[in-house]
Amino acid sequence: MDMLAEVEKAKELVDMALSFNGIVEAKLIHSRDIVVDERVRFQCSYSGCRDYGGKLMCPPHTPGVDEFKKILSNYYMAVLVQLEGAIVNKDNWEPETDRWALQLHDIIYKLEKKAFSLGFPFAAGLIGGSCKLCKDCPGENDTNAKCLHREKARPSMEAMGIDVLSTCKNTGIKVEFSPTKVIWTGMVLLA
Ligand code: SF4
Repeated sequence: MDMLAEVEKAKELVDMALSFNGIVEAKLIHSRDIVVDERVRFQCSYSGCRDYGGKLMCPPHTPGVDEFKKILSNYYMAVLVQLEGAIVNKDNWEPETDRWALQLHDIIYKLEKKAFSLGFPFAAGLIGGSCKLCKDCPGENDTNAKCLHREKARPSMEAMGIDVLSTCKNTGIKVEFSPTKVIWTGMVLLA
């Protein structure tokens, strides 16, 4: 494999990511800087997330953390992307944060498609937070339900057990918390 050529192709994805509205950071990273930690899955399961077991792109429907570690070991780089969105209504912030999450989802989907076309056949997009494509996910009432938008639905980094904060820190990307804005982070794995 010509690694330099691969990196040049991947840089096109970085440029594309930065052209989207709301994207404040896009960086090509080495997959060894992606931190996967069992505690992230533990938090999904036991820290009160409403989407655990409900959304079909969330645990326990997603691969286990060990399985994901194995999958990740076959990827050599990724594009890490951050979107920043303003929160105007601080008393009712959820619809706004959901809207920004959907915007990142759409961008990750487009970047993944572009990565395929550039010659990364195993490109895999991971969004931030739970999948919000449907108002009501059929997984909420039926664990055997089928996803309604399999072509576009993607799991989140967190659903795979990725420690997003540590991964950002490893790669020199700041994550700030503020009541007036939301930051969503996603990535596209490249191989
Ligand atoms: S696309 Fe719809 S059905 Fe599929 S995981 Fe997302 S919310 Fe659930």
